[in-house]
Amino acid sequence: MKVIGLTGGIGSGKTSASNYLEKKGITVIDADKISREIVEPGKAALNEIVLCFGNEILNEDGTLNRKALGDIIFHDKEKRATLNKIMHSKVLLEIKHQLKELREKIVVVDAPLLIETGIDQMMDEIWVLNVHEKVQIHRIKKRDKLSDAEIEARMKAQLLPAERNKFADVILDNSGDLKDLYKQIDEALIKIDKRYKIRDKR
Ligand code: ATP
Repeated sequence: MKVIGLTGGIGSGKTSASNYLEKKGITVIDADKISREIVEPGKAALNEIVLCFGNEILNEDGTLNRKALGDIIFHDKEKRATLNKIMHSKVLLEIKHQLKELREKIVVVDAPLLIETGIDQMMDEIWVLNVHEKVQIHRIKKRDKLSDAEIEARMKAQLLPAERNKFADVILDNSGDLKDLYKQIDEALIKIDKRYKIRDKR
């Protein structure tokens, strides 16, 4: 089994790429989905988060108020580190668990903080999505209705694209339309065997 780590900044197109890969029959493990599941009411991660951040980060129905938590952690590096400490080991454990159950030829792990958390080290190769900053901000605004300052804070909490690209085996440019992205994904998949042959010879 070859495990591909798919990553990129906020709004770079990870979900769009993952959806396409899934349509092609490729299994995708979604780190964001795991992150949401482990903070459901009653789960250990949510209890730990409440202990650290207080009841203010809960909605009235006891679910996590992601916006409230985001407002805190995207403006405070230490608090972000605290949250990451609670979340990352649990997410990693679940990714490992899911990978162990799979027998597919190719599996993709979609994780926004793939490199920042060191999950990249478990991957056979890394695909990084790039998108021109202006296009990225425009797409995030349209999708999330965030202010410029909120978008900037979220972008600052992630690696700079140039840093992320240093880890990339494949760079996908998602500044164009989805058809263009899909074409690049198809090409990357076609060339996958070739990349492994080259690597095996080293
Ligand atoms: P996040 O990290 O915030 O979860 P993401 O990397 O998963 O984001 P997407 O949700 O796939 O990114 O894309 C961000 C937004 O941009 C979405 O609304 C998506 O529909 C749109 N989008 C993505 N790629 C394209 C494209 N090539 N053309 C037009 N819109 C796009």
